[in-house]
Amino acid sequence: MKTANKKVTAERLVRDALEKAKHFSDYNIFTFINEEGAILRAREIDAKIANGEKVGRLAGVPYALKDNFLSPDGETTASAHILGGFTSPVTATAVEKLEAEGAIMIGRTNLDAFAHGSSTENSYYGPTLNAFDRKRVAGGSSGGSAVAVALDIVEFTTGTDTGGSIRQPASFNGIYGFKPTYGTISRYGVVAMASSLDCIGFFTKTPEDMDLLMEITAGRDPKDLTTLPDYYNSIDRDSLGAACPSDTLRAALAKSSCSAEHIAPSESHRIGIIKDFDNESVDKEIRDALLKKCEMLKEKGCEIVELEMLSLKYALPAYYIIQPAEVASNLSRYDGVRYGFRSEKSADLDSLYNNTRNEGFMPENKRRIMIGNFVLSSGFYDAYFLKAAKARTLIIREYEKAFSKCDFILTPVSPSPAFRLGEKVNDPVAMYLEDVMSVSLNLAGIPGLTIPAGKTTEGLPIGLQLVGPRRSDKNLIKFSKELI
Ligand code: GLN
Repeated sequence: MKTANKKVTAERLVRDALEKAKHFSDYNIFTFINEEGAILRAREIDAKIANGEKVGRLAGVPYALKDNFLSPDGETTASAHILGGFTSPVTATAVEKLEAEGAIMIGRTNLDAFAHGSSTENSYYGPTLNAFDRKRVAGGSSGGSAVAVALDIVEFTTGTDTGGSIRQPASFNGIYGFKPTYGTISRYGVVAMASSLDCIGFFTKTPEDMDLLMEITAGRDPKDLTTLPDYYNSIDRDSLGAACPSDTLRAALAKSSCSAEHIAPSESHRIGIIKDFDNESVDKEIRDALLKKCEMLKEKGCEIVELEMLSLKYALPAYYIIQPAEVASNLSRYDGVRYGFRSEKSADLDSLYNNTRNEGFMPENKRRIMIGNFVLSSGFYDAYFLKAAKARTLIIREYEKAFSKCDFILTPVSPSPAFRLGEKVNDPVAMYLEDVMSVSLNLAGIPGLTIPAGKTTEGLPIGLQLVGPRRSDKNLIKFSKELI
């Protein structure tokens, strides 16, 4: 990461990033540009550097925030009309940690409203365009964050991933996108979508940058009681778990300080590929890219293990029951009284709620609220929500079993490369099918990293997903270098 120093000032870095953001304004990447705030902050950091004071690991590094991270800089809208005009009094823990290391937020990035979607076309502000083909979608929901990194406006951006919202846009734009183990980074101060699935993560151009951002942001937060103790920076024997193949190695790790430097060389790794994914539904060029990477790993001494994971066929239906159920609960707080937009038409309290929600939510938000309330209703709870919860348990167990046979799993991120703008936006089921390979990780709480894996003949990026057991995050990022 290019940090500021006496020769290259933070102000220079920030001004360059702002300039690039302007240059690419046609892509509709940003919902807010923090020009004044970023320059002021850069000057503070430059003054520290000039005085020889200690600066952080991200001193002067410009970055952008997905617009569902709360901070008092600019409105936080989650690209939803109903949050228009809302300025947060609090700052997300992840943002605090990044800024404590000297990172400078130059803007907020576009997303599908409330992170509901796979293309950024559900944003109140209109879609973000793909970095490689402006007639195609950026992916979603974190489309703006992915394109900001792909076009080199900033070196990193934040994202949230509830069912693929980091991994899929990263894959559509040819960069790295990481969804950590559930609970690794605090969700405090991030607009909630589905609380048992939401994860905070990043977009970068290299695994090294991803590792640094994880080191900075991972850890327990008293403001989010679902956060894990900081295993990322102090890997213990258990946390390495299945990611370390041999017993000898485990014993060595147990004795050593267990730093990631002691991880096995690639030749001892076993990489799983899932044989029962419906291969025919995956684009041929993506399948070929996967096979090519497997060959590459074999040459490096890895063993390729075929996995049968029958319960994964239930992942998408289970996700599209559990997720809307949690969405319905989380979005009930937007009523026109406490946050952002309030409909002017309202004569009494009931019509204020109705009109605000009717005018303020996007159609996809409303669809999820309705599905969520339906599957939670007393007549249908057993038939839908309870069944989905059981399927989730099966999926968790199946992954545990898989990781007793291999160290990591390599899969496509999505069935196709970036699709055309408008192609799926009016067909919710087609859009949901985009998530068929990404949602099972959120249901199981396990980490997944999108790695760039070449391009299609049309020049569109292909991404593959490296999946690991819970808390294998550090090893997984490290191992991804074998796939470059
Ligand atoms: N595309 C998925 C959905 O619409 C995932 C969204 C996300 O991860 N925020 O639910």
